[in-house]
Amino acid sequence: MLQANIPEGNDDDTAIIQRAYRNLLKSLPGPLNAEDKHNIRAAFELAAKAHQQQRRKSGEPYILHPIEVARICVEEIGLGPTAVVCALLHDVVEDTDVTLREIHGQFGDRVALIVDGLTKLDSLHDSESPQAENLTKVLRTMLTDVRVVLIKMADRLHNLRTIKSMAQHKQLKIAAETSTIYAPLAHRLGLYKIKSEFQDICLKITHPEEYHDIAEQLAQTRRARELYIEEFKRPIQKALEEQLGIEVKIIGRPKSIYSIWSKIRTKLVAFEDIYDLFAIRIIVDVPLEREKVTCWQAYAIVTDFYKPIPERLKDWITNPKANGYESLHTSVIGPKGLYVEVQIRSARMDDIAEHGFAAHWKYKGVRGVGNNANVFENWLNQVRETLENALSGSAVEFLADFQSNLFSEEVHVFTPKGEMKILPEGATALDFAFSIHSDVGCTCRAVKINHRVERINYKLKNGDQIQVITDRNQRPSEDWMHHVITAKAKNRIRAALKEEKRQLAALGRETLERKLQNQFKAPVEENADMLAKWFGFPNRLEFLSAIALEQVDLSGLKSFRADGSRLVEIEGEKAPQSGDGEPKPAEPLTGAKPLKQAINKADVFINGEPGNYYVFSFATCCNPVQGDPIFAYVGAKEGVKIHRTTCPNAPILLANYEYRVLKAEWGATVKADFVATILVTGIDAGPGVIQQLTDRISNLGINIRSFSITGEGGYFEGRISLVVSNTDQLNQAILALKQFKFVANVSRME
Ligand code: MN
Repeated sequence: MLQANIPEGNDDDTAIIQRAYRNLLKSLPGPLNAEDKHNIRAAFELAAKAHQQQRRKSGEPYILHPIEVARICVEEIGLGPTAVVCALLHDVVEDTDVTLREIHGQFGDRVALIVDGLTKLDSLHDSESPQAENLTKVLRTMLTDVRVVLIKMADRLHNLRTIKSMAQHKQLKIAAETSTIYAPLAHRLGLYKIKSEFQDICLKITHPEEYHDIAEQLAQTRRARELYIEEFKRPIQKALEEQLGIEVKIIGRPKSIYSIWSKIRTKLVAFEDIYDLFAIRIIVDVPLEREKVTCWQAYAIVTDFYKPIPERLKDWITNPKANGYESLHTSVIGPKGLYVEVQIRSARMDDIAEHGFAAHWKYKGVRGVGNNANVFENWLNQVRETLENALSGSAVEFLADFQSNLFSEEVHVFTPKGEMKILPEGATALDFAFSIHSDVGCTCRAVKINHRVERINYKLKNGDQIQVITDRNQRPSEDWMHHVITAKAKNRIRAALKEEKRQLAALGRETLERKLQNQFKAPVEENADMLAKWFGFPNRLEFLSAIALEQVDLSGLKSFRADGSRLVEIEGEKAPQSGDGEPKPAEPLTGAKPLKQAINKADVFINGEPGNYYVFSFATCCNPVQGDPIFAYVGAKEGVKIHRTTCPNAPILLANYEYRVLKAEWGATVKADFVATILVTGIDAGPGVIQQLTDRISNLGINIRSFSITGEGGYFEGRISLVVSNTDQLNQAILALKQFKFVANVSRME
């Protein structure tokens, strides 16, 4: 994707390429057998020759990319020689003249299958979302060979590590795709390290200032943090080793920049106020059968020294996460009264947590005890089911289903017999019923949660015991669609509703048949579609089932006369208004009221051209202000919209419709008005608060468009909409309000 043709390579290139290749070979553990050695060499030579004329955006020879992807597969994911061969070849079919058939001839079935899975689908130009379709393809191949998705992860990781040389708007697209799809997928595959790196790089692209701020503060506080970790470790290390009689590894890990950033954001705290900037990890190396008991012993010892916070105890050893993660987590009160997160796990659990899927296979034969022998198989089955159900819908719909079902955290619940079921977070009792069996779901009349009757849309909590009460006469209704979140339940309800409608339509058809026969001696078949349209229904099925429900006034038929077997409308008669009317177009997402745009349109450049070449407007979901980083989105109906790169809708737009995104920049500064809303929180200092805030803003010459304030318990929250001409003015207002002692935080609303 990043290549440009250049003349023949030179000697320097050859030396660099050879060095990279030798490094790759060195990264492979243990001696290779003759066949693997030969195949890796052959793949390298084929790829090097095929990519010879290409360079990456950074200017380096293209072949360095596949070599590096292969190295990541080995060193950071734990894959073996076959994956190396496939990684070396992963861009060959897509970007060069080499065909899949040649690869098949030289390397056989397995390699060809994987390389095919990694090759983007072509001719997707008329597709709604090429991104979604390509991902669907990757996942389908993943079901046959999971290495496809793992190599894809390595590919994405290397592209992100080298993203600097790309244009900014392309970086934004890639960041959006990564944070909506690849990061959650990495999480689901247990690739925690890669997930964190994905998130950190994305944050650096979308919020560069905040990223560098946090990175700097982390660096500044590093020494103090290391000393603290030492102090924390000292007493427990000795006690653990003496009492357990084994060597114990204790490490202190700083949290990722992304996780610190999201904490600052969601909890509205300052960097200094985040107590858990790091976690302490205690790793015990014991045989499989002693893992669980040893971890709990370690817990007992640690909590002899530091007081635990019971609500923070999480036992993912007894009930591992769906991605295979096992560990015992708790928080304790450490020296100086600080909260410290402690993770206790065995060396094997640690390996799986670091390397995810690939490490899991390594232990697969070993794992006979415990509950998670089949976590990955279960997950793959879920993927399979989602894919099968998706055959009917669009790729974008599939992606949405996939994200909501397979990427979410899960809840563990129980049947009355104590059998555990894992469902995605947010699943309801009705989802549970469908997870047991589709018949149980379809006939669900009531549910008992922990022996109490609850609504069927009760949101499941960890540990709930659920009893489903069925009734043979029960049937799914339309509103059930709002009570479930799992793909399985939705598909079964949809199918049941369709089936019911089909039966109704058969009844309606009989009614219509009688009428047409009596009045016109005309058959149904040749007239039903025309009549459906005339009566204002989208299709025959809806029309006929509405007849069965007596929702159609068939006296309207008197507007027709028979012409042979066909009905013809008598001139001058008017069709009735359709009952429900057209569905209204979706409302734009939240945000301030639409603004009167005073801005001169030439002040925005879209795709490098003056904005007035396009019909454009500013998105009301994020209200860009002159100076904000922005991009343009070509909507299906409303023309071009300018969004902020930090807009809450941006990831969805960029990830699913990247081909509709254009670069946008602000033009020369001209006086223009934008509305921006800021959120002010603080301690309620009495009746003068509003006056003080508004005076301060007015003194800056900034107009206030609206002001609302709420408060309770001595705390207030104010929303102020300002009319500003650019981000400088907005920041000025924010700074000015922060000066007040009674103000705790001021931020722009997104
Ligand atoms: Mn690639």
